[in-house]
Amino acid sequence: MISKQKVRVRFAPSPTGPLHIGGVRTALYNYLFARQHQGELIFRIEDTDSNRFVEGAEEYILESFQWLGIDFDEGVSFGGDYGPYRQSERKAIYKEYVQKLIDAGKAYIAFDTPEELDAKRNEIQNFQYDASTRTLMANSLTLSKESVEQRIANGEQYVVRFKIEPNHDVIVQDLIRGEVKINSSILDDKVLYKSADQLPTYHLANIVDDHLMKITHVIRGEEWLPSAPLHVLLYRAFGWEETMPAFAHLPLLLKPEGSGKLSKRDGDRLGFPVFPLEWKDPETGEVSSGYRESEYFPEALINFLALLGWNPGTEQEIFSLDELIEAFDLDRCSKSGAKFDFQKGIWFNHQYIQLKSEEEIGKLFNDLLVEKGITAPIEKTKTIVGLMKNRVSFVSELWEQADFFFIAPTHYDEKTVKKRWKEDSAKHMTELMHLLESLDDFSVENQESKVMQWIKDNGYHTGKIMNAFRLTLVGEGKGPQMFDITSILGKEETLKRMQKAIDALK
Ligand code: GLU
Repeated sequence: MISKQKVRVRFAPSPTGPLHIGGVRTALYNYLFARQHQGELIFRIEDTDSNRFVEGAEEYILESFQWLGIDFDEGVSFGGDYGPYRQSERKAIYKEYVQKLIDAGKAYIAFDTPEELDAKRNEIQNFQYDASTRTLMANSLTLSKESVEQRIANGEQYVVRFKIEPNHDVIVQDLIRGEVKINSSILDDKVLYKSADQLPTYHLANIVDDHLMKITHVIRGEEWLPSAPLHVLLYRAFGWEETMPAFAHLPLLLKPEGSGKLSKRDGDRLGFPVFPLEWKDPETGEVSSGYRESEYFPEALINFLALLGWNPGTEQEIFSLDELIEAFDLDRCSKSGAKFDFQKGIWFNHQYIQLKSEEEIGKLFNDLLVEKGITAPIEKTKTIVGLMKNRVSFVSELWEQADFFFIAPTHYDEKTVKKRWKEDSAKHMTELMHLLESLDDFSVENQESKVMQWIKDNGYHTGKIMNAFRLTLVGEGKGPQMFDITSILGKEETLKRMQKAIDALK
């Protein structure tokens, strides 16, 4: 299906708020497709609906892609030969193309006020402005040319409507869904342009721009599929069938549980972000969490999203961006919705922590330690990361798991004490202190062999000793192997903590 023409795709958000995670996936698929075909990815802002404009949304979207490492070749803030790329700056272009449709008899001017339209809706059941009703309305098809001109000269507001011919099949060839066929009679004469703000509606601006920007493939969410027949008809009305882009409508992202579309409320309810970055609503001040602030790695989020609606046809789950570019295939996108399994997103982050070097995670962990007022040599942090990272999915969880390496326990968990600190524990720990103190070689191996020998010689119970030992150093029952802990703490700190615990738990 892919012609020799240079692939040009676009991501064209409307700046109506923060970018939803489904939008991120759409952009990602466009990006993968463009890179795979050595094509171009364009960033267009569709801001023709001024009522829905939200301050800061455009900047937010750009920052999101910067964080994710999804780069564009052209568009708002990137430049290029087909600009301006912000639709509000292309008013004159749309005006010209709307006029072309009117002149060709493919669109017409309509004066019906909202009140008049409401009245008609009350009068006619299931009223739709179309071939069967347009003759009853105040438009350039029913009014004389003079009257139309007079009304416009009087400053009356109007819209331009697309004149849809009824009763014929409209076929959308979709790369994912195959042939989608509808009858044109179900479509209404969509408004393409409004005199009030001199702006086109989404449909007209979208088609004109896709044409002028030489877009070859329109890859977008399933929610736009119902608009596609209208878009096909617009291409035809302009005489642009030859260069009509191929369509690919991506499956919806579905709720993690139950049915229906993923919503922000699902995220709030189940505790996961639905936005790439944290977003503060400029009107209400309400803050919504973001993947970045929730400490996901951008690579992990990309990997997770890539597999929501596409599958490689193999068992492979971990993909670098380059591997995704190589493997991605619109033919392997599913028609049915993809359940947004956020636990899987956490799993991906866990996997990426394992893949990253101890150096990289150690540095991130050190940043977090600094916030807690702790500075630690990177060598120590690296060792701790190496020991602990397979237990965590996020860097901050390292703190929960490994805080005791940096701060001595100030109290001893009551439950653990009850269970692990027995009458003879103080005596055992005192003996163990003497043994450890006598060791010149404080390596994991040497400690282990000497301590095990001591336990054996005395007929002690290993579990009992180790549990009490852990309590003295950690303050509770968590942590890695005891001798991994002692060797990182060092002899002096180990003995200090043991003495403190013996005194406290007496
Ligand atoms: N402006 C539309 C949006 O917000 C673009 C839809 C399309 O890609 O055609 O998603």
